[in-house]
Amino acid sequence: MSELRIAHLYPKLLNIYGDGGNISALKCRCEWRGIKVSVDEINVGDDIAEHDIYFIGGGQDKQQIEVAYELQKRKEFLTKERDRMAVFLGICGGYQLMGHYYQPHNGEKLPGISLLDAYTIAGNNRFIGNVTAVTSYTEPNTLVGFENHCGRTYSNHDCLGDVIKGFGNNDTDKKEGLVYKNFIGTYLHEPVLPKNPHLADYLILKALQNKYNIDSLEKLDDSIEMKAH
Ligand code: GLN
Repeated sequence: MSELRIAHLYPKLLNIYGDGGNISALKCRCEWRGIKVSVDEINVGDDIAEHDIYFIGGGQDKQQIEVAYELQKRKEFLTKERDRMAVFLGICGGYQLMGHYYQPHNGEKLPGISLLDAYTIAGNNRFIGNVTAVTSYTEPNTLVGFENHCGRTYSNHDCLGDVIKGFGNNDTDKKEGLVYKNFIGTYLHEPVLPKNPHLADYLILKALQNKYNIDSLEKLDDSIEMKAH
């Protein structure tokens, strides 16, 4: 029986707009297929062991400060994990800290850990609302979610999707999220995976491919999830 180990990074500090629901979606969609899942919550001060999937959610600027400095201690380990193609999903505040830095509108510049070649600078207004993007990474190819952020993220990595409604990474290039190796960063909350089951499956399949010789997933009945989508 295949088994995936998921690490939920800093859930006590970064967990807004139900981002933790992404863990539930990953767990359910694995278990419905007979794939065993374990979830470890990693909090400030905890060492991190190898996992198959790393998840980090969004949070306010204030909570990002503690996480930013904690992450510096985990930078070398997480860089190795990224390079051995472990799967990562970073949302909003957590996504921002995976780049080189996050400069809040008022306040100290926070160091990132450069797992993504990206940087984020906050503007003086927030981007709030529903987002729709079109992606080349999943089938179906639409991604939907809710954004609420001041940060504008800039990068040369492949974007996760082209924005057709809302803002996404910033207010200039109409791109949403980033993909680098098996790392997906995105501004989409809500949480994103329950109502984009194809994105959840993309991550699960990447994790299984990285660990076992598995190249497809059993299809599930997603009629309810797609109504939400
Ligand atoms: N504090 C960050 C911003 O406003 C992240 C917010 C979030 O995670 N929703 O850009």
